[in-house]
Amino acid sequence: MKTREDSAKRAAATGPARLAEMIEAAESVVALTGAGISVPSGIPDFRTPGEGLWTKVDPMKVAHIDAFRDDPKSFWEYYRPRFQTLSGKRPNRAHEALAELERRGLLEGVITQNIDRLHRAAGSERVIDVHGSIATSSCTFCDATFQLEDVPGLFGEDGVAECEACCGLVKPDVVLFGELLPEAAMAEAQELAEGADLMLCVGSSLEVYPVAGLPELTLAAGGEIAIVTRSETPYDSEAAVKLSGDVVDELDAVLAALR
Ligand code: ZN
Repeated sequence: MKTREDSAKRAAATGPARLAEMIEAAESVVALTGAGISVPSGIPDFRTPGEGLWTKVDPMKVAHIDAFRDDPKSFWEYYRPRFQTLSGKRPNRAHEALAELERRGLLEGVITQNIDRLHRAAGSERVIDVHGSIATSSCTFCDATFQLEDVPGLFGEDGVAECEACCGLVKPDVVLFGELLPEAAMAEAQELAEGADLMLCVGSSLEVYPVAGLPELTLAAGGEIAIVTRSETPYDSEAAVKLSGDVVDELDAVLAALR
């Protein structure tokens, strides 16, 4: 039996403790993650001024589908080192916290804007890669698929990755600028967002559409949103909880506060 004191304490809970309560009370929780969750893994957020590979070039030009088609050599000159850097990164405790919530039956799945495949590496089972993932690359001609570890072997002397079967251009299975988001992944993300009574937004500035529209779907269906992100987001005023500290510390505190 709950005492009056317990109830008062619960109602008064704030920060990570309040979020832990909301996660336990909700029937369906879904996470939406962005670049901020991978920063502790050593992957800089290209939106942070003065950081990351993106500051030296204009990503809108060089990581654009037109650049890949028109000048694959220049595209790979830029993209290959980025690809190699990402393939060596390991998940951090924030990724692990979400995997742990899923194992405990408290999280339906993770919708991520990140292409770094670190959620799966951390043990998350249901991951919706709405911007694609570096896990695989595909031939643009015959659709043959290559695993991340096999891609380095596809480069010829010209610095372009070519299909072993048909010599077609091989493209990473990530969404480049100028490309549409994968339809099936977005449909699954929208369904999860609409069915969630709590959307946990982690490390995303919630500014890049159409993904930034997902919390709106949760709110419109009567659900709540919680935000664990250092930066300000357009949803801050609508969030039931906003945690602005380090993502690892905040999610550790949430896990610690679970019953
Ligand atoms: Zn091919």
